[in-house]
Amino acid sequence: MGTVVVLGSLITDLVARAPRLPYPGESLVSDDFSISLGGKGINQAIAAKRLGVEVTLVGRVGTDAFGDAFFPVLAEEHIDSTYVERDTAIGTGVSVVVVVEESGQNAIIAVPRANLAVPPETVQEALQAANAARGQSPAVFLTQCETSRGSYMVGLQRARELGFITILNAAPIPREPLSDELYTLVDILIVNEVEAASLAQIPVKSVETAKEAADVLLARGPQHTIITLGGQGALWSKREQWHGPLSTSSHQLLPPFPVKAIDTTAAGDSFCGALAACLANGEPIEDALRRASAAGAIAVTRKGAIAALPTAEEIEDLLSQV
Ligand code: ADP
Repeated sequence: MGTVVVLGSLITDLVARAPRLPYPGESLVSDDFSISLGGKGINQAIAAKRLGVEVTLVGRVGTDAFGDAFFPVLAEEHIDSTYVERDTAIGTGVSVVVVVEESGQNAIIAVPRANLAVPPETVQEALQAANAARGQSPAVFLTQCETSRGSYMVGLQRARELGFITILNAAPIPREPLSDELYTLVDILIVNEVEAASLAQIPVKSVETAKEAADVLLARGPQHTIITLGGQGALWSKREQWHGPLSTSSHQLLPPFPVKAIDTTAAGDSFCGALAACLANGEPIEDALRRASAAGAIAVTRKGAIAALPTAEEIEDLLSQV
């Protein structure tokens, strides 16, 4: 069985629904409140695990009740949480969300807290342990931009040294530009249209402009760039020669699976986790991308994040229908 190590966030979403957003200074009363577990790290770890691979999540929560709530879920999903450490000084990351009932419009304040305190040493230890346990199986390191730059930089370096396939989902848009060195440590860069436009500094409004952005990003070092385009599928771009500066690239549009979208939350996480799992199971990238597209499509047919992430069987079902 393949191995995936995910470094990423664990965030508690505190969601209030109201008829409208409050005005500055106003205290608006609502009777609809819910708490849900999220963060790209745990979402992508669960997305990968549901496809049948060994998954280790590396992250950090506080010693508060919000932090406690993640461990039963990780255990239920059979994810190794040895490296989800507890910070005694900083609380669990939270997102304070207001959703407008009629329109679904939202306003969010994200407070990463302990997520930004993952020690680089913990990432190295987790990778070392996963590497020792994997034997000859392929392994993938998957990370995003919701932990500190130092943690995912060290993770990418160590994963590369250990022969893992490295995937960076550069989301949310990093506040500081990613360094040249970081790009060269990434085998597969995954971004949505907004992130691609911001990183490449090119407006991405069509498949043609996505290709231009992909070439800019590929020239910085990754072997593959995937720009996810929501209901339009995804653009897969790759270098034609493996190392050195970009001279030629090829692009392929991965068509969307026809589904009825009701909630697009976690589509990207579903895609990234599934891709990592399929590559860790030794699938060629073409096949892995097809399964990842199916996983993204299924996620949009269901409400919520973790609840929307499909199993391997559900993905096979969708593949067999088209
Ligand atoms: P993000 O959530 O990061 O913005 P996207 O919305 O681009 O990510 O979705 C990721 C992938 O999920 C897409 O590339 C596509 O394969 C799939 N997907 C998303 N929305 C739909 C949809 N409406 N119909 C079919 N597939 C979809």
